Amino acid sequence: MITSAELINLVKAYDPEANVDMLRKAYIFAMEAHGNQKRASGSPYFYHPAEVARLLADLRLDVPSIVTGLLHDVLEDTCVTFEELEEIFGSEVTFLVEGVTKLSKVNYSSSKAHQAENFRKFLLATSQDIRVLIVKLVDRLHNMRTINYIASIEKRKRIALETIEIYAPLAERIGMSVIKDEIEDIAFYHLHPNEYRAISVKLEQIRSKDDNFVQNTITDLTRVLKEANIDATVSGREKKAYSIWKKMQRRNVSLEQINDIIAFRVIVKTVEQCYLSLGVIHTHFQIMPGRFKDYISIPKLNNYRSLHTTVIGPLKQGIEIQIRTEEMHRIADEGIAAHWSYKDGNVIPSGDDPKKYNWVKSLLTILQNSGTPEEIMDHSKLEMFDNEVFCFTPAGDLITLPRGATVVDFAYEIHTSIGNTCIGVRVNGKMVPLKTVLRNGDQVDIITSPYQHPESSWERFVVTGKAKSCIRKFIKSQEKAEFMNLGLQLVQNVFSSSQIAFSEQLIDYKSFSCSTIGRFYYNVGRGIISLNNVRTMISNGESSKSLTEEAICLMDFSPGIAVHFAECCHPILGDKIIGVLVPQKGVVVHITSCDHLKKGKNIFVRTKWNKDDESESTFIARLRIVIINKTESFAIITNAISSSGASITNIKVEHRSVDFFDLLVDVRVNDMIHLGEAQAALRTCANVRSVRRL
Ligand code: MN
Repeated sequence: MITSAELINLVKAYDPEANVDMLRKAYIFAMEAHGNQKRASGSPYFYHPAEVARLLADLRLDVPSIVTGLLHDVLEDTCVTFEELEEIFGSEVTFLVEGVTKLSKVNYSSSKAHQAENFRKFLLATSQDIRVLIVKLVDRLHNMRTINYIASIEKRKRIALETIEIYAPLAERIGMSVIKDEIEDIAFYHLHPNEYRAISVKLEQIRSKDDNFVQNTITDLTRVLKEANIDATVSGREKKAYSIWKKMQRRNVSLEQINDIIAFRVIVKTVEQCYLSLGVIHTHFQIMPGRFKDYISIPKLNNYRSLHTTVIGPLKQGIEIQIRTEEMHRIADEGIAAHWSYKDGNVIPSGDDPKKYNWVKSLLTILQNSGTPEEIMDHSKLEMFDNEVFCFTPAGDLITLPRGATVVDFAYEIHTSIGNTCIGVRVNGKMVPLKTVLRNGDQVDIITSPYQHPESSWERFVVTGKAKSCIRKFIKSQEKAEFMNLGLQLVQNVFSSSQIAFSEQLIDYKSFSCSTIGRFYYNVGRGIISLNNVRTMISNGESSKSLTEEAICLMDFSPGIAVHFAECCHPILGDKIIGVLVPQKGVVVHITSCDHLKKGKNIFVRTKWNKDDESESTFIARLRIVIINKTESFAIITNAISSSGASITNIKVEHRSVDFFDLLVDVRVNDMIHLGEAQAALRTCANVRSVRRL
């Protein structure tokens, strides 16, 4: 374990004016706070924060970052309080420690791609200061180096998954590729041990086969560069198992087909020397076409700069060479940490107002300029990220919402039914009003009630499209039901004022361009269909059910008055008939023997059949037919009726017993003679017991 003095010396080496008192104080404070706590490895817990601090010092970070490394677990794992930290170490360090603590509380368990991206954004948003993220990444690096001590395979896999899906991409995004490579490789080992071993065995075979390949290539490259008067440091680096595995998957090739397992690096002093070296290498070795890339002219999105080329090496195999300056090399390895740290004794002022770090700006710049091409955060995405808020369900699932979203938006995001029945909400354990705006990291617990439903006032404060449309849909459906009900009542009123029994069959809703009767009621309720039109339709509908007015001659009235056939007795041509004057309806024609005429006082109107009329009018007569209760009986009577040239307009089973069906059948016939023929045809059927006209 690094001692306090060793740590101070390490920092003083690049920052002679470092606040060593603060470092010493933090070292002792953390050691005492963790007391005799032990790591899974059995070593004292303090070994871990001390090691994190050392790694941060290796990155040449400022004193507050290193102090944060020492203290990063005290809030979470010891009884040290926020106030205590603030009193002893000040607001800057406390702010950073708190930031790292917040990140540690997030447990990632999903492996869905969009969840991973949301988690990364959440961590970035929660980090606030880029140093929080750097400390967290270094913390993760040390945890990965010691992950073998964790006994539970499940836990190891969970941490490995979180590392590979969240922390490694974050490290890559801010350019810290050395950390990224290492944590990714360890995570790969724990997630896919078989694949890892297979690749390692192959690498070992390649290594033993080409014993001096790396050394010979380095010697050759150094020699040709020296002959051209270029002072260069050449090294060879074997790629990590995980990056080989990814490449195999990406290109869908086997391990044998990957020829750039070793990457050679040529590090020179100036940009000019980079291009000179490239020229020299291309003169001495045959270039492999299509593999040259100039990331100096056009840096990668995470600010990576280098020349890449692949040539046929001295041993007649393809070798990949990266050419860069020392500064480029550092940025390639350390990314933002390289920008953040002290360069060549050029001290960045520290310890003042954290705002001086302009961390927002740098974070945004890094986000803008980072990531692999697939995950470039373009400007619009960045705005989206800026406008997002990340919250959690009680189960720890991450829910991403637009900034300004309320708890009702959250409820709808989980499920429409949760939103529709949301009656109360607990945020971080406290009851809050429904219009409460959410903040990053809030844990939201929705309380529902089956009696609750969306209110139109919600529409004013929700921000997500989903919540808005769900609330509007509900309110509309509620309105719709109300208008339909109103329309039904209005139509029923029209019926009763026309003295016609209410019957939906009389409503020809299609003539009002309505596809359903419900739509018709709704339109009446909304006033889209006028009641006058409804009235006309009802009276027309009733008369059109029987014959045309021309068939009847009203002897005491001039034509123009409405004529209807009574539904009780269905007069047909040839019957003795009489009209009854019904106010607001017109004349209703009955058979003179109809029982209805005996009731009440009627104003009779003399009527007769218009026999001169050559009209093709038909009539409906109602028959009572009793048939044997057998399945084929229905087919027999429908055949009999249609064979007589009549047609059935309505069948009603009035009564059904074990032996018989008692039916009411309306048949459409031309006249009395036709009706007689139809009845005769029915009576000849074996299954028909009786036929009687009503
Ligand atoms: Mn830690």
